Amino acid sequence: MHSHSRPVLAANWKMNLGTVEAGAFLDGFLSRYAPRDDRTVILFPSALVVSTVRDGTRKRPDIQLGVQNVSTEEKGAFTGENSAAMAAGAGASFVLVGHSERRHVFGEADAQAAQKCARVVEHGLVPLLCVGETIEQRERGETGEVVLHQLRAGLSMLSHEAIRDMIVAYEPVWAIGTGRTATPQDATDVHLVLRAALAGLVGEDARGIPLLYGGSVNAKNSSALLAAHEVDGLLVGGASLDPVQWAEICGS
Ligand code: PEP
Repeated sequence: MHSHSRPVLAANWKMNLGTVEAGAFLDGFLSRYAPRDDRTVILFPSALVVSTVRDGTRKRPDIQLGVQNVSTEEKGAFTGENSAAMAAGAGASFVLVGHSERRHVFGEADAQAAQKCARVVEHGLVPLLCVGETIEQRERGETGEVVLHQLRAGLSMLSHEAIRDMIVAYEPVWAIGTGRTATPQDATDVHLVLRAALAGLVGEDARGIPLLYGGSVNAKNSSALLAAHEVDGLLVGGASLDPVQWAEICGS
């Protein structure tokens, strides 16, 4: 499904861009970014805006859609939650799991990331599992250990086939929303660790799993990061809210 020759550019809008703003974003972005079959572009709007973005991209099947979170539960009395089935019904194909804000702002544990990945796959969606260390963990030399633990725990309920078809993003917590980007070499170092662990789980199939880098990516640094060894794509927050900059990043 994915390969190294086809980078994945993913936009995490977080709690930004409501229905009206998303419409304006699409007007600006789609007129600047023509369909390309050599890359995959995925937008992660608010769950409330997914159907708007789906309608606004009807003529652009090259633009994929995802949601930023789903419940661990199938359905029922979970006020305020959205299920994987609802995400699929609204037109999403991908789900972010274990984003650093879910882990560090909302206290989500690895066990929940694992359940969410399983739920997502059950409904035919693709999990995009995020892993990353805090600055304290990096300074203590624990980066490899932390990301491997998050990766293995997050994937623990998935089959070989589901792992083969998923996406993983390395997002150092200290680089998210801070303007402090990892160097391309930092990204490569961690991606090599992740790739080796995935190869331990699914062998040769690990080569086809896109490993994205995320953390203060913008139109100025995107090309260098994308060119880094073992970096198969980018997950972008702040810079993906500006249609002009996002179109530039998608073209890099
Ligand atoms: C993110 O939220 O996944 C992210 C990488 O944010 P930013 O690009 O704003 O650092």
